[in-house]
Amino acid sequence: MTKPIKKIILFLILIIALPILFFLFKEASNLNETEKMIESIYQKQLDAVLFSVNQYSEDLARNWMNRIEAYDNGRNSLFISDENIFKEMLSENPSIKYIFASDTSFSFNAIFRTSGETLNDPYLKKLLVKQNKLVKRLFTYQSANFNKIEPLPAPDETALQYLISISKSKLVYGIAIDKAEFVNKELSAKFISISQSEFSFAVFDTTTSKQILTIDYSEGQKFQRTRNLWMIPDYKMGIALQGKTIDQLVSERNKSNVILLVVLAIIMIAAAWFGFKSIKKEIELAQIKNDFVSNVSHELRTPLALINMFAETLSLGRVKTEEKKVEYYGIIQQETERLSKIVNKILNFAKIEAGKWKYNFAEIELNQIVAKVFEVYKFHLTSNGFEFALNVEEREMKILADAEAISEAVINLLDNALKYSGYNKKVVIKTGTEGKKAFVEVEDYGVGISQEDQKRIFEKFFRVSTKEVHNAKGTGLGLTLVKHIVDANHGEISLKSELGKGSCFRLTFPLLES
Ligand code: ADP
Repeated sequence: MTKPIKKIILFLILIIALPILFFLFKEASNLNETEKMIESIYQKQLDAVLFSVNQYSEDLARNWMNRIEAYDNGRNSLFISDENIFKEMLSENPSIKYIFASDTSFSFNAIFRTSGETLNDPYLKKLLVKQNKLVKRLFTYQSANFNKIEPLPAPDETALQYLISISKSKLVYGIAIDKAEFVNKELSAKFISISQSEFSFAVFDTTTSKQILTIDYSEGQKFQRTRNLWMIPDYKMGIALQGKTIDQLVSERNKSNVILLVVLAIIMIAAAWFGFKSIKKEIELAQIKNDFVSNVSHELRTPLALINMFAETLSLGRVKTEEKKVEYYGIIQQETERLSKIVNKILNFAKIEAGKWKYNFAEIELNQIVAKVFEVYKFHLTSNGFEFALNVEEREMKILADAEAISEAVINLLDNALKYSGYNKKVVIKTGTEGKKAFVEVEDYGVGISQEDQKRIFEKFFRVSTKEVHNAKGTGLGLTLVKHIVDANHGEISLKSELGKGSCFRLTFPLLES
């Protein structure tokens, strides 16, 4: 890898990959925290739902208690004569079983029952005496103008829950509600209205584990949140999300977020990879162009130097024998030819690039074209010490093509065979048919081309890195021209080559029907 490319990789890692990795790492670690936060928000929401039920039941109780206190109206007692008033309240609210009032020594001055009976209730008195402290606390609240309602804890399993409060006139008063009835009659509507098919509810007795009320609740379902009922401390209510649990929802979200992050990471890495690839290509192209300029300069300089040297020697009249003069003229001519070849190649390439190369298609015989090229080229091969052979197909091979362009392509292949043969100087030219196609092959036994380079040799300016394979100079345009000519003449080019063993280029063209 060249230095600038290494620099780009380093640059990309620093500028793109590191921030991406940092971002992804941070996102991944944030994910956990976000999920925890979401879970806690969910939990709080469930808490809020249960809180609203508690609030509702307290409001209900407060409402009832306020009604009772309104009858007390500062008299500090409820009278049996008030029975009719309370009868109405009791029949309206069947979960209330008793309404009671007492003085501070807990001697009841009135107890109303649903049936209308009035009687002293020693059980309640015992309860109040036991909860003396609680009552005292309520007195303190009342003196601070805070009318608090407290449930009286019962020592045994009882169906009733006593709620007490202190009136402004210091009357201890309260109600006894049927716990199960209260939940079923007063709270069920509230639960249903909140449920909305999203939540499941259940109210159960903590002492007996008996289920008192269930809304959309399926047996065995796990509660996400449970809370005691403020007004009935023995009862607990539980809430669960219908369908999926919060854990499931959170883990599903987590999964989809992780997938999203992975996809994002892949996209970002792919983008960085494509960025790197295109920059690498640009740099390679710039390098190749640089090489091209230096190669072409060298290619031009050598023949020019030779021409200059021999022309000078001749013009100074230093060459004495006619024989030598002929030889020097020959060299000058040969080098001029070489120069014009290079210039032609570059001009032809420029024409191709500009889309200005014009072809004159005509019916031609491939054997003839190849034989002509061979006749002209034979001299080169011989003078360069090459062993060579031309194996021509006996059949006529008519194709529709531009004769000049095809010759140019074959010459380019021969030029390369010559340049890249190293010490193994042997070239075979062969023509033949294959099905409905005619071909011409140029085979050498020289340096060969690696599999890796075979993919790129037709690219413009591309040259196999010279140090390892060969020292021949060139423009990197020869095969680009050949490929272009073959394509334009509806042909195909194929290559068989092995490093160190040689190469065989084959040009194939469709035969004309005879
Ligand atoms: P040039 O010969 O001017 O470098 P070409 O486009 O003709 O450019 O060839 C591209 C590259 O392909 C050459 O640089 C050379 O490395 C390789 N190549 C072409 N022909 C042969 C061959 N016959 N044997 C080995 N390598 C070859």
